Amino acid sequence: MSSEKNILVLNCGSSSLKFAVINSTTAETVISGLAERLGSNKATIAIKYNGEKQVVKLTENNQHLGAIEYLVSDLHTKNLSNSLTAVGHRVVHGGEVFTSSVIVTEHVINEIIRTSGLAPLHNPANLVGIQAAQKSFPTLPQVVVFDTAFHQTMPQHAYMYAIDRDLYTGKGLRRYGFHGTSHYFVSQEAAKHLKQSPAETSVITVHLGNGCSICAIENGQSVDTSMGLTPAEGLVMGTRSGDVDPGLIIYLMNQFNYSGQQIDDLLNKQSGLLGLSKMSNDCRTLEEAVFGDDKKLKEQAKLALDVFCYRVAKYIASYTVALSHLDAIVFTGGIGENSDYIRAQVISQLSILNIKLAKDLNEKARFGAFGEIQAPDSQFKVLVIPTNEEWVIAQDAARLSESK
Ligand code: AMP
Repeated sequence: MSSEKNILVLNCGSSSLKFAVINSTTAETVISGLAERLGSNKATIAIKYNGEKQVVKLTENNQHLGAIEYLVSDLHTKNLSNSLTAVGHRVVHGGEVFTSSVIVTEHVINEIIRTSGLAPLHNPANLVGIQAAQKSFPTLPQVVVFDTAFHQTMPQHAYMYAIDRDLYTGKGLRRYGFHGTSHYFVSQEAAKHLKQSPAETSVITVHLGNGCSICAIENGQSVDTSMGLTPAEGLVMGTRSGDVDPGLIIYLMNQFNYSGQQIDDLLNKQSGLLGLSKMSNDCRTLEEAVFGDDKKLKEQAKLALDVFCYRVAKYIASYTVALSHLDAIVFTGGIGENSDYIRAQVISQLSILNIKLAKDLNEKARFGAFGEIQAPDSQFKVLVIPTNEEWVIAQDAARLSESK
């Protein structure tokens, strides 16, 4: 193991912390893990190291800070902290200020605080991660990588909502897009695979995980994406509705006295696959039910997956409008990388564009496989490319800290 270029990557979610130490030269993941249910009495931290996984309950200090402190002491015990050269942080919202990754300064922190209103669950958690890492590793450069940055190339006609424009100029209400690190990574990998320069490669990247978004990438640059002001817009997700009629919200408020908080919970936590199926937000569970014997569960699960797939297909077709040419459609994320069922359902609805899958290739492309899955007579290529957001963060952190 080369010890010289190890980057600590921290990804603080609203109640979770994903972390990894990655060698930025060899791409080896030295240690990785996940702290979950932070802030509750069920908080745990799981650490994978040398092929073994250890899970510990965080009893006393069960917030993000406690999880980071536990991780730091574990890195000390394993003699890994001295090998670190930088810390890379994922920050969800960078507003219009950040168009690329940056080294953390006081100004950067203040801007992240200023943008927090647009991502109230995430940016404050991201800041806790930055501040805890600064305290634990005061001499190391800290680098932030924004989920929104890749989409800052979107043209105005794609990012403006058709509402009073003063709400954009005065309050920043526009479409920002998220999952930028993932869309960027798989589009770069697609260009490599196609043996083309990224600056000449146009793809539609389809990130389907618990959160889902799609991106039109023209010659290496994001020109449209399905998430908007917040990560609630666009595709159907695990627990998020994606696109709904704005009138639905007004109707719920006026006719049924829903509060803002209730609407937030409904659209972000109780909708999507979970809301439609009344069973689970997990695609695997729903696929099992579709092929299971229980008729009622089968019908509920199938409806949820049908709505999910139809929305994805509709977005793919509509994003051909944003592109002057299309080299490939790329599936990624937990569902996109693993579910041949979902990919088949989506692509089967695109026959008018003459996009077709090869059944055998589609069925084989799972569990980390990388490759083409289209039929020989398909007009466009379809690729499955596992995403690696941590690797992008590690590379940006290494590059920026070296140039400091
Ligand atoms: P992510 O948020 O990218 O980790 O993706 C989580 C989603 O991927 C969940 O809905 C999982 O059910 C789904 N997923 C993971 N593995 C599979 C699989 N083998 N088949 C279908 N869905 C899967």
